[in-house]
Amino acid sequence: MRTIGLIGGMSWESSAEYYRMINEETRHRLGGHHCAPSLLLTLDFAEIEAMQRAGDWDAAGARLAAAARTLEAAGADLVLLCTNTMHLVADAITSAVGIEFVHIVDATAERVVEAGHRRVGLLATRYTMEHGFYHDRMRAHGIEVIVPDEPDRTLVHDVIYKELTRNRIENSSRLAYQKVMAQLAERGAEALVLGCTEITLLVSQDDCPVPMYDTTRIHVEAAVDLALTPETLPVGP
Ligand code: GLU
Repeated sequence: MRTIGLIGGMSWESSAEYYRMINEETRHRLGGHHCAPSLLLTLDFAEIEAMQRAGDWDAAGARLAAAARTLEAAGADLVLLCTNTMHLVADAITSAVGIEFVHIVDATAERVVEAGHRRVGLLATRYTMEHGFYHDRMRAHGIEVIVPDEPDRTLVHDVIYKELTRNRIENSSRLAYQKVMAQLAERGAEALVLGCTEITLLVSQDDCPVPMYDTTRIHVEAAVDLALTPETLPVGP
């Protein structure tokens, strides 16, 4: 099995889920005492969050590219960025390393398309819901994305930054998310994408009237698939 590199800390609450799920998924597939060879590099979310608020995406991209290079140098064969939001600067990472980057939107879109859904609701940070990169990448797979109207976008964003990334899980927020998801379904969302890697800590399929796509789990499964795919060796002369 190849070594999975994880750029984590955004937040550590979801990185812990990645670490647990990657090892559980590997044991599920290989059995016995198997777990996934992996390297987890944890960034200080306070630094990244300050760059987000300042709109300094170039600095954030440079920071993440450096993290990816560190993982590559340490022996990672593929790299995951354990946050949807920071995929806003995915290009900075892919151009910095030679190892494969498992894009969270592509992995999710493949599942959505497989299930035959064409219009999804997105719950995520304000950056992910409003910057357009998620919509564009989904559109490239033939999927239309709709997001909550205000004030619900603010509510969804605030729950992520004031609670989930601070290790707080509140029942009142679960109820609020249920309402937002129901409204997106009423507006024609055939499925819901949890486009933030901490939302899986708050809600489950039981909270949602339409099929739900948990990007954390999907990203993990795509990584384990790839890590278990034998590397194609160059064909000799
Ligand atoms: N983990 C979150 C995401 O998937 C939010 C934290 C961040 O801004 O990176 O978007």
